Amino acid sequence: MRVVFCGVGEAFDENLTNTCILVQENNDGSGRSILLDCGFTAAPSFWRAAREPLELDAVWISHLHGDHFLGLPQLFIRYSEHGRTRPLNIYGGPGTAEAISSSVELAYPGKWSKLGFRIEFVEVESGDGFELTWLRGLAAPVDHPVSSRGVKLEAESGSLFYSGDGRVEPDIKNFLEGCDLGIFEAFCLEKEVYGHSNAAQVGEISLLAGIRRVALVHMHREERQKNGEKAVSLLRKQGIDAILPAPGDSLIV
Ligand SMILES: [Zn+2]
Repeated sequence: MRVVFCGVGEAFDENLTNTCILVQENNDGSGRSILLDCGFTAAPSFWRAAREPLELDAVWISHLHGDHFLGLPQLFIRYSEHGRTRPLNIYGGPGTAEAISSSVELAYPGKWSKLGFRIEFVEVESGDGFELTWLRGLAAPVDHPVSSRGVKLEAESGSLFYSGDGRVEPDIKNFLEGCDLGIFEAFCLEKEVYGHSNAAQVGEISLLAGIRRVALVHMHREERQKNGEKAVSLLRKQGIDAILPAPGDSLIV
């Protein structure tokens, strides 16, 4: 599968799109796909990065902060304009359906019932799995000020974990084991910020779970400028193949 970093920024970065990751079935970008988070600045970046944006099958919403889901009204209305008829699956935690339908109605009154395609919500608790035709998803808890989940995606070619926002605790080590790629929030280099992870913790949990390839995302705007390269070096010194992806970067899993 191919992973495209449509956005890698935090909520309020003036230069970087909100973290938003497209996972495509085939290495050339064709076939089925799932989008991981879609915050208020993300939809245009997804549209630019996707080879076949109209073919998107599913969206995973890690939690209900605006920089992770408030790009959906824009995405839905654009699909509507393109005459989309095929359903779109949305996976997220409890309350996802209500929050998303309300956000569409707030952004574009009267549109929710006239999109022209079905949105099929599947709300999952941590520990729940879900199946798409080409991959299996599994939700895991992360520690964030609001209810938030990471997700493990397993396809035939490999597996990845996306943390969304939040600190990943060592007690989900078994869950993470065997992932070919970890995409982790690293809000800071080493500083402790409540409900967030930092690069040092990401290194620890990656080593513990045997994840040898890591992408650091959602770094605080000032930290990324000041300490982004240091964060990568910190993990590389521990034998982890770490990157700080730029918008539009992609890799194969
Ligand atoms: Zn958040």
